[in-house]
Amino acid sequence: MKRVYNFSAGPAMLAEEVLQKAADEILDYENHGMSVMEMSHRGKEFLQIAEETEADLRELMKIPANYKVLFLQGGATGQFAAIPMNLSAPGEKADYIMTGLWGKKAVKEAGKYLDVNVAAQSEPFNTVPEQKSWKLSDNPAYVHITSNETINGVAFNYTPEVEAPLVADISSMILSEPLDVSKYGVLYAGAQKNIGPAGLTIVIVREDLLGKAREDTPMIWNWSEKSVSGSMLNTPPTYSWYIAGLVCKWLKSKGGVEGIAKVNKRKAEKLYTAIDESDFYKNEVDMQYRSKMNVVFTLPDPELDKAFKEQAYARGLKNLGGHRSIGGMRASIYNAMPEEGVDELIKFMKEFESKNG
Ligand SMILES: *Cc1c(COP(=O)(O)O)cnc(C)c1O
Repeated sequence: MKRVYNFSAGPAMLAEEVLQKAADEILDYENHGMSVMEMSHRGKEFLQIAEETEADLRELMKIPANYKVLFLQGGATGQFAAIPMNLSAPGEKADYIMTGLWGKKAVKEAGKYLDVNVAAQSEPFNTVPEQKSWKLSDNPAYVHITSNETINGVAFNYTPEVEAPLVADISSMILSEPLDVSKYGVLYAGAQKNIGPAGLTIVIVREDLLGKAREDTPMIWNWSEKSVSGSMLNTPPTYSWYIAGLVCKWLKSKGGVEGIAKVNKRKAEKLYTAIDESDFYKNEVDMQYRSKMNVVFTLPDPELDKAFKEQAYARGLKNLGGHRSIGGMRASIYNAMPEEGVDELIKFMKEFESKNG
């Protein structure tokens, strides 16, 4: 068996140690004679996994005590609707900062529930507008940002200061670098980029923002009801929750978020340097807002894309194609991508350039 370097944006690579531990426990979890997949979510074995995962996540992200952590389903996309339902009344306004295609989707979905003001946007999405250029409304229910735009490879390098609760989609940067949770009202993330398998969605919400949901909010989208039930109003995604727990333990063994952030910085810097030093590859994102998780680049001629992907694939460098909406290439280099994977990619890029440049 040979594992490859998988540059997919999500579902994405998981650390080998995590998969090995899951494999060791697949038939018999800690002498219970069954897999975690087969356990009742209300049994004491699973409750212990659930509590430990939350405790580890809180420790890794330094989540203050006045925040609730919810383990939900429906993806970040489900939260695009849940956010306005939980934080606003019909007819109220919210401000959105649109810095990429995920933010654009969030705007569209929220528009079904409230009056959306796009306070700033940067289409074709290769930068983040400076905060002083934002046209915020008077008294919005909240201000929404997408901290890292997975498709466009654009990321905030600062935390905005706003009066209304700040809501951030951190799907593709959660746990990748330190983040001051206390600056936010709500943080949310689909798990399949940097936390674990698909099927789990994390929502971190400040307690004073609970209890404001619209009356017709479906109970599974109601953060307060979910919180009161310990995210067990109905069956949660138990196995994804368990794997997320293994990922948290793995991350702790790597020096936590601070430790992995150093590696992430190095990985991104060397890949961008390789791109910038060549006349062949190009990245058009404003340097200071380049994503450390999703590195997008183009070749001089799109005709070469197919050969690049095929030859990379043959070398065990997989899923380098850009998102179908923008084309080009994208290397997603989340926490679980080893530094050697980035080194191999750079080596391959140089060889490809010398043959085709
Ligand atoms: C992947 C992604 C989403 C969509 O996540 P789902 O879990 O598939 O709904 C939303 N926002 C960002 C920033 C993403 O990277």
